Amino acid sequence: MPELPEVETIRRGLAPAAEGRTVRDVRFTPEGERLLRGVPPNWFRERLRCRRIEEVGRRGKYLLFRLDNSDYFIAHLRMTGRFEVEDASAPESNFFRAALLLDDGRELRWRDVRRFGTWDVAPNLDAIEAKLGPEPLEAGWTAATLAAAVHGRSAPIKAILLDQRRVAGLGNIYVDEALHAARVHPLRPGASLSQAEVERLHSAVRAALLGGLENFGTTLRDFVNAYGMEGRNRVMLRVYGRAGEPCLTCATPIARIVVGGRGTHLCLNCQPVPGAAAGRAS
Ligand SMILES: [Zn+2]
Repeated sequence: MPELPEVETIRRGLAPAAEGRTVRDVRFTPEGERLLRGVPPNWFRERLRCRRIEEVGRRGKYLLFRLDNSDYFIAHLRMTGRFEVEDASAPESNFFRAALLLDDGRELRWRDVRRFGTWDVAPNLDAIEAKLGPEPLEAGWTAATLAAAVHGRSAPIKAILLDQRRVAGLGNIYVDEALHAARVHPLRPGASLSQAEVERLHSAVRAALLGGLENFGTTLRDFVNAYGMEGRNRVMLRVYGRAGEPCLTCATPIARIVVGGRGTHLCLNCQPVPGAAAGRAS
């Protein structure tokens, strides 16, 4: 599933193609109508048609297209959704589901193998903001913010970091990478982290996300940017997807466990199990 660096990479590709352009029409394949989750396609089309896209933004894993009447077109890629900028005359690729036709003859085409993506139009971002915590790359997200998010929590630190209400935009890949870099076991209860560990984790989350952005996202299977190019961050991963391979820090084979239903990769030497960490600390 695309996380903050992948969604931001797509946003950066879409913005120059979409900003200032007017939506001429919106079209759906029959399967593409599932994006709307019951909203009639005609209602949706009327909200976008003839509207100029003022700005393409992002919040967490949501893409936000601010329109000239101050409505927002809000898209979430979920598992396999993607936007691609293409000439309206170009042949449609497999799993093409829907498109916004722009006034320059190009289309923002939506492709989605698994069909879990969503499209909405809303007069403001209240519903989105209610579901999301702070943006981890903004200056306001400090080690103290993270300390407050884990304070008193018995939930595993991995589950806390994946909770979009605690911090927006993180997913399985970057959380596993950050926990390894910070030398924190994913099952550690949030409240058990020391101040030093919180500070390490705060830096590690930022570094993992910035690294992902710098490399245009992580392509494991099918992530591509708005122009069909794969991200280059996969080779930078130190634990995610490397079960059985040697830890790049200590050569211990990377383990795979399940935390909250999510496959989780870690080094049991660099990230001691919760009991061992408590024993060592005392
Ligand atoms: Zn290790």
